[in-house]
Amino acid sequence: MSFRATVLTLYPEMFPGHLGVSLAGKALERGQWSIEAVQIRDFAEDKHRTVDDTPAGGGAGMVLKPGVLARAIDHVSADDHRPRLLMSPRGRPLTQDRVRELASGPGVVIVCGRFEGVDQRVIDTRNLEEISIGDYILSGGEPAALVLLDAVVRILPGVMGNELSGIHESFEGGLLEHPHYTRPQVFEGHEIPAVLTSGNHGAIAKWREAEARRLTAERRPDLLEHSRKDGEPSPQPVKK
Ligand code: SAH
Repeated sequence: MSFRATVLTLYPEMFPGHLGVSLAGKALERGQWSIEAVQIRDFAEDKHRTVDDTPAGGGAGMVLKPGVLARAIDHVSADDHRPRLLMSPRGRPLTQDRVRELASGPGVVIVCGRFEGVDQRVIDTRNLEEISIGDYILSGGEPAALVLLDAVVRILPGVMGNELSGIHESFEGGLLEHPHYTRPQVFEGHEIPAVLTSGNHGAIAKWREAEARRLTAERRPDLLEHSRKDGEPSPQPVKK
């Protein structure tokens, strides 16, 4: 069974978006994953197809009504075991570890919020896992869902041409990645570090590890606490 994404949204035309091109798009055509965007509004029951209402307790903005959203969720995931996610700035920050877990499962159901957000009772009763893509506010959950799916799809088996290139990436070993260089040997007077053209693979690996540690210490010291110790094996690509 290939990875199956169902996205609940008021803007289904935003999908598959950029995931319809390049490697993800080719994998989509090959059926290595699938995506279905479902219009939440189709589950409204009044004649105006209302999806939002004013916040209880007052205040600015509107809230997605619980009934409409609950019916949409039940319709798409009544009898499957896919995790149900809600894109939300209040959620747990998305990490590469969670991306790997999701990629090794059957798929996801993703709810995209709009307005001020969704009624809390839907989050509670439908067991939605809130996930944030960063400490800033988007106008809707759709770009966040596309970010999450991009991260998941690229590590599905067979999606990236060279599967190995998915292993040595920032975060995979708990560190940021080392810098990259390619030809020419001299660019605007700046040389490629000599070790990289030395042909000494042991020395190259050492240099990369040291650079990764240096960059991580400089930019993301918070990651160092969780990083792998020297000599531990690299994580393997996701197997189905
Ligand atoms: N009033 C809310 C923000 C609503 S933004 C608050 O202050 O928490 C509207 C919708 O955009 C949200 O329901 C959510 O689905 C999405 N969204 C906004 N920022 C996001 C982020 N950083 N990560 C994931 N989803 C986000």
